[in-house]
Amino acid sequence: MVIFAPDKHISFKQAEKNKSPVKLTKISKRVSSEGQGFDVQCGRLTEMSVVDRLSFGFKAPSQIPSRSVGEVKRMAPKQQVCAVIGRVVHVSQSTETVEFQGASIETQSCYLEDNTGTIKLQLWESLIGKVAFGCTYKITNVSTRVFAGSMYLTTSRQTEVEEVAPLVGLSENIQFTIDEGEVIVLEGSVTSVEVAISRRCVRCQAWQQDVDTRGQFHRCFRCKRLQYVKAYQPTVNASVTFVGDFGDRELTLPNSVIKRYVERENLSDLLNDAQDFEEHLMMNIVFKMSLQRDVVICMEKVPERSTVQCMHPDTGQMEGSDAELIAVESGDVEVVAVRVEGEVAEEEPEESLDVEDTVDDVETREAVV
Ligand SMILES: [Zn+2]
Repeated sequence: MVIFAPDKHISFKQAEKNKSPVKLTKISKRVSSEGQGFDVQCGRLTEMSVVDRLSFGFKAPSQIPSRSVGEVKRMAPKQQVCAVIGRVVHVSQSTETVEFQGASIETQSCYLEDNTGTIKLQLWESLIGKVAFGCTYKITNVSTRVFAGSMYLTTSRQTEVEEVAPLVGLSENIQFTIDEGEVIVLEGSVTSVEVAISRRCVRCQAWQQDVDTRGQFHRCFRCKRLQYVKAYQPTVNASVTFVGDFGDRELTLPNSVIKRYVERENLSDLLNDAQDFEEHLMMNIVFKMSLQRDVVICMEKVPERSTVQCMHPDTGQMEGSDAELIAVESGDVEVVAVRVEGEVAEEEPEESLDVEDTVDDVETREAVV
């Protein structure tokens, strides 16, 4: 069954929950796109009514069949895949923001592996950050695409990601590697900023204009439903001038980076108003921005701390007395510094990185891994 009218989704969900028998009129019947049986298509004119009794009992639908990575790779482009199960062998730290129908939409890539191969999966918007390295997921309602001769999968609004038990037969060590570029860390403050916040309807996905975030309700201009203002999820993009020892740089902060930052700092309310968040960024806070291939992948507040602690953002998770901590850490720093010097000398003689910055850089990568 394929439902084209978004306003009917809720009625169908309700009927599914109550296991109510229903009668549909004004439907169309097409040969299934999956090659077996028929699709029943419901449009705007379709009418649904609940009926009292049927002459047969309820039978649970069979499990959604999942395809192997090998099977998916042999499919044609732009085909629907009901489900695929795979272990995540890589998640990109950086995301990409693309313009689509006047809105900025963020995407992130990851790679899935099963016994038949590995395939790239492009995650969009709310699915960003939903998969973790080494875990196994069942991913439903994706479709095939081809780019530069390689098949990959892309998620849709209907995609669901569910963690499942590990696949049998995969080796414990993940061999997959992909070079995403070095992570550099800049410390500085924001001297100019422009924040744009767009909101969209959770029911019909339409981008909204003029949502009054001080009010309690907002009516979607497309599906006409009145809903709580907080039901309209914000998508945030910020352009900032970032100034520090490195000089000044124009940076774009992607939605997922900002969302992680405000959640960690308990500042989600700032996203009710673009200027509130702009003023926060300008409040003389020292920020640490991690960049990979010129894309900001993490922003953090730099608290006022001692130098040793500054180089170790994760000290909060470590145990032991301060004295031990410093002893352990200075040991780490030495080792890392030697490694870094080697790298700098061999790979990037043209760049004059100072060791302290680079230590931070290596630390960040390790923390993320
Ligand atoms: Zn709507």
